[in-house]
Amino acid sequence: MARLFVKIKDQDNVAIAVKDIKAGTVISEDLTALEDIPQAHKIALCDIPRGGEIIRYGVVLGYAIDPIKKGQWINEHMLELPTPPDVDNMEFATNIVTDLPEPPVRTWEGYRNPWGGPAGTRNILGISTTVQCVTGVLNVAVERMKKELLPKYPNVDDIVPINHAYGCGVAINAPEAKVPIRLLKNLSKHPNFGGQLMVVSLGCEKMTVDMLCDEADITPDNVIVLQEKHGFDEMISALMEMADKKLKILNERRRETLSLSELVVGMQCGGSDAFSGVSANPSAGYAADMLVKGGATVMFSEVTEVRDGVYLLANRCVDEQVGKKLAAEMKWYDNYLKEGEVDRSANPTPGNKKGGLANIVEKAMGSIAKSGTSPIVEVLSPAEKPTKHGLIYAATPASDIVCGPCQLASGIGLQVFMTGRGTPYGLAIAPVIKVCSRNEMKELWPDLIDVNAGPVATGDATIADIGTELFNEIIDVASGRKQSFAEKYKLHNDLCIFNPAPIT
Ligand code: CA
Repeated sequence: MARLFVKIKDQDNVAIAVKDIKAGTVISEDLTALEDIPQAHKIALCDIPRGGEIIRYGVVLGYAIDPIKKGQWINEHMLELPTPPDVDNMEFATNIVTDLPEPPVRTWEGYRNPWGGPAGTRNILGISTTVQCVTGVLNVAVERMKKELLPKYPNVDDIVPINHAYGCGVAINAPEAKVPIRLLKNLSKHPNFGGQLMVVSLGCEKMTVDMLCDEADITPDNVIVLQEKHGFDEMISALMEMADKKLKILNERRRETLSLSELVVGMQCGGSDAFSGVSANPSAGYAADMLVKGGATVMFSEVTEVRDGVYLLANRCVDEQVGKKLAAEMKWYDNYLKEGEVDRSANPTPGNKKGGLANIVEKAMGSIAKSGTSPIVEVLSPAEKPTKHGLIYAATPASDIVCGPCQLASGIGLQVFMTGRGTPYGLAIAPVIKVCSRNEMKELWPDLIDVNAGPVATGDATIADIGTELFNEIIDVASGRKQSFAEKYKLHNDLCIFNPAPIT
């Protein structure tokens, strides 16, 4: 008989239902469901007194508000949230795992870049902007470029305008303005753009071209200022002419066989459910370990979704310096939330809760699983570029559409996205591979989900099986041998950049 529930650690006093369970169902020899239990939701494995610990993943998810009977459904209203872990007294480098799974291959096919660093997974003309005011004109030009220019350059995959809401009407000198500015600057030199910088400015905005570009790059070959042009037609011709020159150069780029050390992969999850931490995220973690073992760089992020398990990450930081930066990023975010008069309980979402995630502690334990077991070699502030290879904690908001651009600015060439409830999320600048946590999700969206980790939840496949399948998918998509569904259908979310500074 297929298993009806999944228990993670021996000490857990709850398990989650693999399928909807009807009241009265005999789940195991000494456990009967006292009420209907929805798929992915928790069932009590023993009586839990008022104030008693509710334990999953071997950690306390919360405390029972009222007594809970063995066989009862435990929903999100029945737990009190524990206090967040103290980030000032964490232990660093106490859990350094070096025994990682061997990757099936150690090379991929990518586009090497003139300045070295991470290689491209795609060949794209990225057009940066200093301010939202230029977006309308640029979009008209890009439509024409795609119709008239792109067909002449078959080796170029796409033309992507980097449109955003920043640039003017903002407190440009506020301390936290460095986040959106750094993001846009790093994004302008994304590895998929092949070193071809093209910048469109209005001319009177607060974010001036010199904030976005290095001095040497500010030339008429790279920068167009709309207020210097005589009317709309001249703007469009200037944009077309510059794009044509850049596309010609990009068209000469060719993929080469490269070592995995030139590949940077981002991990993110969204629309999670209680299976995410059982199937999809651990499978992603396994693939992450294989990538790291092969020399690649893997980033994971989403501060509010690691905050409750941060001590587990601190144990994996290679030294105190890395650990201290991790603590600093957590504190920065605690404060950011406090200023907005919320706390981490603002995450999870209603969908997460419907998917059986009772609170942020449970979500965090599942979320962290996507980082695998490798040591954390570096911690980045939002949108910073890495200086090391290996597993990197890149601090970002957990919001899918904000995490994506931050990781892109940090240089990911591909993102792996785990989901339980389903989202058609995608990025224009790098391909996104979607991994789902349940078979039902793959059945519902067979043409949107790339890898199904559902068989891990039902006990029909191992984490190593799906993790290896995902690793191979990552290599195939990064190498351009395959397109993910989000890429094939061009499912591109808007570029929602992280701006923690005031708007004026
Ligand atoms: Ca997310």
